[in-house]
Amino acid sequence: MDKNFQEEEFTQIIKFTPPLHKQRHQFVKDLVEKYKPKKVADLGCADCSLLRMLKFCSCIEVLAGLDICASVMKEKMHTLAPLPVDYLQPSERTLTVTLHHGSVAHKDPCMLGFDLVTCIELIEHLEESELKKFPEVVFGFMAPSVVVISTPNSEFNPLLPGVMLYRHPDHKFEWNQAQFQSWALETARCYDYSVEFTGVGRPPTGMEKVGFCTQIGVFVRRYPQTGESVQSEKPTEAVYKTVFKTVYPSLKEEKYLQNAVISEVIFTAQIIKHRLMSKREEYGDDPERKSKFQLSMDCFSNYLGKLVVDKNMEPFVSGNEAYIPLTTIFSFPKVNRLCGTFEKLCKLIAGKVTLSSDGSAVMFNIEHENEEN
Ligand code: SAH
Repeated sequence: MDKNFQEEEFTQIIKFTPPLHKQRHQFVKDLVEKYKPKKVADLGCADCSLLRMLKFCSCIEVLAGLDICASVMKEKMHTLAPLPVDYLQPSERTLTVTLHHGSVAHKDPCMLGFDLVTCIELIEHLEESELKKFPEVVFGFMAPSVVVISTPNSEFNPLLPGVMLYRHPDHKFEWNQAQFQSWALETARCYDYSVEFTGVGRPPTGMEKVGFCTQIGVFVRRYPQTGESVQSEKPTEAVYKTVFKTVYPSLKEEKYLQNAVISEVIFTAQIIKHRLMSKREEYGDDPERKSKFQLSMDCFSNYLGKLVVDKNMEPFVSGNEAYIPLTTIFSFPKVNRLCGTFEKLCKLIAGKVTLSSDGSAVMFNIEHENEEN
């Protein structure tokens, strides 16, 4: 079999599932699951597709993207904005997403304090002078606890269909495994990081020596450092231009918390009232039947996951009003978790929910329900 035919045969089977770019992003997502960073910066973020995926990682509170090409970032940056559902159900965490226009060859204070920095298929796009400055900017200046760098493995190129010199016309170089590893080891040594090598896109069976199609280095900082000390020790002038910034609604903000608490209090009170009414109808005023009714309410409370059954403060009906004590509502896990303290619950609903005159219970007018019965 001649060599060309052999290569052709291989090019037929080199089809990655899922596609390689998705595998690279999944690799970063797994890394986020492992290290749980709060602040992540994606350098060379292009169309923001990695950022779009990372915004769903619940540990992340700050996401930043940087690219030298503003137009590619702007194309889809609106997809990073909160959706209506984010306002309807604000998350417990805070999330800020910012996009900067600038070069990884320049230092900007907005890039300080990150826990994880990702450079996916970036370095091969850098001019020689930029590549020289890159380690000092990322490892010396930004100095996050973890850096992930991916780049094409040139040893794999003969197996890819149609690749002549480089995989992309904008690539300034493509390294083989030895070249990438020696650069990465030297960078890690210089800035006191450890580095481990891996990749995505497995070579075909029998050709394992070729290595992964995309080679990846995961760098972990060896020395401890706090965000505050980084900021104060390294003042520099801002050189990047912010092209996009969005702050997601969060329950940490009082206005969203208040809305969520009010809805939850009314919802909980409504279900209790509904149950109270149907049981009342069932058991009437007979004392024996009433105690059965009490028992039934307790079971119901347990069923809803109520934390404590407070025997002294149970919902009741008086005239045309149903009273659902706030202590009962507060003992429901979701309300409890949202408010933290009973005082906070009272403060958040004050003036927003109809309460009994002493302010101890949510009050509903049941005139119509009585009429129906
Ligand atoms: N990270 C993207 C793909 C990157 S392609 C992904 O995972 O899909 C390389 C990106 O690096 C391009 O968008 C390019 O504009 C950007 N880039 C090139 N030189 C740069 C520099 N000096 N500083 C910042 N970004 C740069």
